[in-house]
Amino acid sequence: MNINDYKFAGKKAIVRVDFNVPLDENGNITDDTRIRGALPTLKLILNEGGALIIMSHMGKPKGKVNPKLSLGQIKDAVAKALGVAEVKFAPDCAKAQEAAAALKPGEVLLLENLRYYPEEEGKPVGVEKGTPEYDEAKKAMKASQKEFAKTLASYADCYVMDAFGTAHRKHASTAVIADYFDTDNKMLGLLMEKEVQAVDNVLSNIKRPFVAIMGGSKVSSKIGIIENLLGKVDKLILCGGMTYTFMKAHGGEIGNSIVELDKLDVALGVEELAKKNGVELVLGVDSVCGDSFSNDANQKICPSNAIPEGWEGLDAGPQTREKFAAAIKGAKTILWNGPAGVFEFDNFCAGSRAVGEAVAEATAEGAFSLVGGGDSVACVNKFGLADKVSYISTGGGALLEAIEGKVLPGVAAIKGE
Ligand code: AMP
Repeated sequence: MNINDYKFAGKKAIVRVDFNVPLDENGNITDDTRIRGALPTLKLILNEGGALIIMSHMGKPKGKVNPKLSLGQIKDAVAKALGVAEVKFAPDCAKAQEAAAALKPGEVLLLENLRYYPEEEGKPVGVEKGTPEYDEAKKAMKASQKEFAKTLASYADCYVMDAFGTAHRKHASTAVIADYFDTDNKMLGLLMEKEVQAVDNVLSNIKRPFVAIMGGSKVSSKIGIIENLLGKVDKLILCGGMTYTFMKAHGGEIGNSIVELDKLDVALGVEELAKKNGVELVLGVDSVCGDSFSNDANQKICPSNAIPEGWEGLDAGPQTREKFAAAIKGAKTILWNGPAGVFEFDNFCAGSRAVGEAVAEATAEGAFSLVGGGDSVACVNKFGLADKVSYISTGGGALLEAIEGKVLPGVAAIKGE
């Protein structure tokens, strides 16, 4: 079903959103991007005369109640964002039958953190992986996950999946629940539709040159997408902490820089595959190094493969910044995931800023630029470039899996692919 065609009047809709927002120590929301992202869907349902049951996870309570991760803390902020007087709260997401039954059109009920129940993620707790007990526990957990999903489904007439950030997980609320609604009563939300469309823009109609920029701390967490991109892009810029695994793989001196010593062969494999596929691999040549992992560290510029002991590469150096900007210039399709340095430190954010500005410039000249992953989004926000890129995705892992061409379980559950 398409959400724009559904008649919500008099219906109760259970909507999976991603309200996993960062909170400060007093429980105040420090970045409400994710709440704002869900508003179009939520408002559409209310405006059409439906009642809303909102469900989400927050953080990683690992199947246990943890008041610090209670969604009750954001109830009033959600009411304000929605422009309603009150958001009711169900303190136990699996025992909300009465509260759901009492809901009237235009009313909103927020369920407590789904991940207080291990059934949400469907992973057995307290049993070691790889043991026979684990396999047994997993089977039992799958059965209780279905029960949990069925309970959630029983609250509503229709199900809307709008949590792109968790759409790559086959959890009770993101996928399993869809089994309890017929095709006419389950649908993707507007955010999901938009995200899926943005990925489609990148993948199905690639305008070349296609330049991908992959940064962040480690090669290991991104190797799947890196290998996949090597089959699609014209240029691949690898930056951030993973630079030093590449330098080390060629016998470079990297001082105390972040490195994955067990991934040196992976780095060499990436280089080989790039060569084979005719992809230009762009790596940094110099680094802004610090004598400690701190914003106030003393700084010096070193070749990225000749960093002395006691120093670590924390940002892209001036030559590297120029090299990256030149590689991005003229691109017609751009994917950016992961910063080019420790951008959280103001004194080590020049590399990430240079990448962001080059992406913005290429966008102004007609490129389609997709920025995704929490840190890259924080980067474009920090540098005031959010409205100068084509699309900012709310997904990290989900975005990368979608770009890899995998069908996300959250999408498959609705569309049956
Ligand atoms: P990821 O979660 O893998 O995308 O990595 C993002 C993190 O990588 C950010 O918090 C950055 O501070 C960090 N990062 C980027 N460059 C470096 C570097 N050269 N050394 C250490 N951490 C880095």
